[in-house]
Amino acid sequence: MKISDVGEFGLIDIIKENTLYHPENVVIGIGDDGAVYRTTPGWQQVTVIDTMVQDSHFIIGKTAYWYDVGFKSVASNLSDIAAMGAVPTQVVLSTALTPSMDVDDVVELYRGIKDICRAYEVNILGGDTVMSREGAVITVAAFGEIEAGKALRRSGAKEGDVVAVSHTVGDSSGGLDVLLQGHDGYESLKKAHQCPVPRIELGRLLVQYGCHSLNDISDGLASEANEIAKASGVELVIDGSAVPTSSELQEWAAESGKHLLNFVFNGGEDYELVFTMAPDDFKALQQAYPDVTPIGTVRAGDGRVLLQHDGKESVLLPKGWDHFERR
Ligand code: ADP
Ligand code: MG
Repeated sequence: MKISDVGEFGLIDIIKENTLYHPENVVIGIGDDGAVYRTTPGWQQVTVIDTMVQDSHFIIGKTAYWYDVGFKSVASNLSDIAAMGAVPTQVVLSTALTPSMDVDDVVELYRGIKDICRAYEVNILGGDTVMSREGAVITVAAFGEIEAGKALRRSGAKEGDVVAVSHTVGDSSGGLDVLLQGHDGYESLKKAHQCPVPRIELGRLLVQYGCHSLNDISDGLASEANEIAKASGVELVIDGSAVPTSSELQEWAAESGKHLLNFVFNGGEDYELVFTMAPDDFKALQQAYPDVTPIGTVRAGDGRVLLQHDGKESVLLPKGWDHFERR
């Protein structure tokens, strides 16, 4: 069955079930002109939005299945919420879909959306359904909340801070590379690309442990570190060999003949967190959340990132592909 057989309203009927995971916060949900929801007194509201375009952000059957597209379109938004230190509460979404798309594929798309919303107890408050002539476009807006005045910015890095990242970096772009080449195996790299995990719990701990600056890694570590350096008016010095990478990524770099640091610094879509905080606070954080690794320090400076690699120190540009390309 195609979307054109059931129409816009038939489609909404199919997807509107099981969308509320905190119904006590929802006064009016799907089915009216707008949704009405409650917020927590004394907390401030955070809003983010992100779009995924077919054949640009994902290629069905090659880099992703519809389930993954749904999951990731929400994950990237929840990651932005985490990168402010906030708790995600609600999403609304707009789907532009082709009339020839199978209804089963839409159900799969929503299975991914609902799985991640259920996992983080985020309500689906509503959306919009429109037809696209060519390819799907999925836009998700997410809402979250944070104790008044506590939101973590990019601009708070201080001289003497530790620079750190969560878990491992570069897996998503390694996974994309594996998928584009149609290579078998490397399942955890593929999963990192297709169903990334937003680091909401860590974002909350960073608020608690006095983090100074925070960003999520959506455009690559080089770009995100530069954003912190620029916004904070400091210099970040990163030790290339200190950035944690998975054994699968190391294997794939060796097998594909590509430089590991290419995946690490220029890859993107890891949705890990990069942050800076005072060394003692970082030690305390590590006790509560061991999956964080120091990768450098903050110095006085004018918004640059320096990379220590092979005994040399060089400027790491926001997009530094050429810098690491094997010649
Ligand atoms: P309106 O014409 O007033 O904008 P719609 O007919 O587009 O309303 O939508 C009817 C209801 O269905 C609304 O509550 C809307 O939020 C919800 N809805 C529409 N499309 C989607 C979607 N893709 N996902 C979730 N909810 C949707
Ligand atoms: Mg509408």
